[in-house]
Amino acid sequence: MPVPFNDLTRQYRAHQEAFDEAVAGVVRTQQFILGPAVKRFEEELARYHGTAHGIGVANGTDAIVLALQALGVGPGDEVVVPALSFVASATAVARTGATIRFVDVEPVTYTIDCALAARACGPKTRAILPVHLYGQMADMESLSALCAKRSIPMVEDAAQAIGATYGGRKAGTFGAAGCFSAYPGKNLGAWGDAGFVVTADAGLAERIRMLREHGSRRKNWAEAYGLNSRLDSLQAAVLSVKLPLLDGWNRARASVAARYDEAFKGLPMQRPSVAAGRSHTYHQYVLCLQRRDALKTHLESRGVQSQIYYTDPLHLQPCFKGLGYKSGDCPVAERVCRENLAIPVFPEMTDAEVREVADAVRSFFKA
Ligand SMILES: *Cc1c(COP(=O)(O)O)cnc(C)c1O
Repeated sequence: MPVPFNDLTRQYRAHQEAFDEAVAGVVRTQQFILGPAVKRFEEELARYHGTAHGIGVANGTDAIVLALQALGVGPGDEVVVPALSFVASATAVARTGATIRFVDVEPVTYTIDCALAARACGPKTRAILPVHLYGQMADMESLSALCAKRSIPMVEDAAQAIGATYGGRKAGTFGAAGCFSAYPGKNLGAWGDAGFVVTADAGLAERIRMLREHGSRRKNWAEAYGLNSRLDSLQAAVLSVKLPLLDGWNRARASVAARYDEAFKGLPMQRPSVAAGRSHTYHQYVLCLQRRDALKTHLESRGVQSQIYYTDPLHLQPCFKGLGYKSGDCPVAERVCRENLAIPVFPEMTDAEVREVADAVRSFFKA
């Protein structure tokens, strides 16, 4: 039985009326730029996170750029970034003009290694950017302590972790700013590119709003080199339909993951592991094993789709060649890139599909 990696058409069909009505509502007003739909979503976002401010932007990459720039990060500064993430976590930092210090990840959670992060901090360090990879939050306790000790802000890349918690507190609310992507495939996905920032800091929120709109607080008066990076009103309307459904969707993902955990007990591969006090949004359910490529081929032969997140660590990407990193500098990230395979996990998966994926993986080890 074929199993897709994800199928967003099921989500659309399940809530078609609400989506169509929300989009038609924006179309009727013809207010496409920062109209009432964006304001409403920003308020809902802030309420969901229990934080004072939500700011809609054009995508998750800009969310990081804008948060860092609003914090004053720029040329001459250094930002500590994990070596395992989507490339935008790092290119967003590079966009500000700051220099990236790559740090390896922990072997179990795949999030930034806090001891190494502490060692990477120096007099020029102006921010730490943890990534809540695959949907599990980084070690907020150690990182918050490190940031407090050095009086530098933490900016969370929470693109994969909306709704995840650490000690009951939500992803994106530990740092000076939490940055999110609503790329369609994310747990809260728009119908195109979209992103947002949450923060408790009114001044920071004000600067992000200024920077997302040409550096202007009032029309035709630019205080800074801003971007044109506003959340599209149609996307905001779609996201307002989805936000109340998010926690249920995340629970559905977790229940798929629990069934995989049960089915894969004892198999010689690394499964996702949730650290005590944390919850996981299962943006991805990632396996690690040396015979990764063979497993991928085996799953393909049974019609089960899978994906690699990521094939290459950030410190070895050609765009960062100038930083001088070499193979062996971040061995855990390099190992995960050789061994990872993400299998289907999405809220609308049927029981039969979950069983099919589990059987397909188990049959690989029997062969
Ligand atoms: C998706 C993602 C981004 C970038 O978000 P876009 O909306 O695609 O710009 C940044 N960081 C991580 C970890 C992501 O998964």
